Amino acid sequence: MSKQSADGVPVQDYPTATTVSEFEHNLGQVRANIAAAAARAGRDPSDVRLLPVSKTVPEERIRLAVAAGCHELGENKVQEAKRKAEELADLGVAWSVIGHLQTNKARDVAAFAAEFQALDSARVAAALDRRLQAAGRSLDVYVQVNTSAEPQKYGLAPEEVEAFLRELPNYAALRVRGLMTLAIFSRDVPAVRACFTRLRDLRDRIRDTDPELVGDGGLSMGMSGDYEVAVEEGATCVRVGQAVFGARATADGDYWPGAAGIADGA
Ligand SMILES: *Cc1c(COP(=O)(O)O)cnc(C)c1O
Repeated sequence: MSKQSADGVPVQDYPTATTVSEFEHNLGQVRANIAAAAARAGRDPSDVRLLPVSKTVPEERIRLAVAAGCHELGENKVQEAKRKAEELADLGVAWSVIGHLQTNKARDVAAFAAEFQALDSARVAAALDRRLQAAGRSLDVYVQVNTSAEPQKYGLAPEEVEAFLRELPNYAALRVRGLMTLAIFSRDVPAVRACFTRLRDLRDRIRDTDPELVGDGGLSMGMSGDYEVAVEEGATCVRVGQAVFGARATADGDYWPGAAGIADGA
């Protein structure tokens, strides 16, 4: 059933998957949408990685998602990710931390994560590198960019990114994979698209200056509400939670400052 928000725009329903075949169905749907968006942009859909985001989802349901083919999972909060990584250690999931990190959690991330997508300070880079070197591990990282100019958002301002990337070779345990962003929380598709375009243009500009700086030049952008637009604009990784697992009860403001209100039609 389709709901309507206060402004009359249909709100997408995200059916909750409670069996392996329901997960297969949701995953198939998202993959088909990615393929269609890629086709519209003349892109190869295999260049887009689907990172399912399992935050707030309990371990029993995550097991079903893994059985349906999810072998890497994104989590926003370190404590929750760490707990799940421990409880689900038998599954061999590659965990991606996609939320803001405080330096005092760097040790945890260095211990269990395969990837960190929200790098936005030299302090965190240094803390991670030190812990990773001690553990003899390395970590894939994306640099988070604030493309919406909302002051409360995490991430570097676009004009700070190149200088920050120039510092990263000092941290040998970090492997730069690209840039990550969250678009503005809005139903205004052109405004959302502009955030994605901004990230792609930034990547292109930096790559023109020095191809080494942005690693693989990946673009992690797009979530359940906007991943198709992101793929049209060049996303190489989409982080999709609700469209895979089902609607989340927690307010988005718990995860991103300033996001409260979108979910209830504000
Ligand atoms: C939760 C989250 C997502 C996925 O959001 P959905 O609406 O569940 O698709 C993507 N990126 C980040 C950083 C998140 O915290």
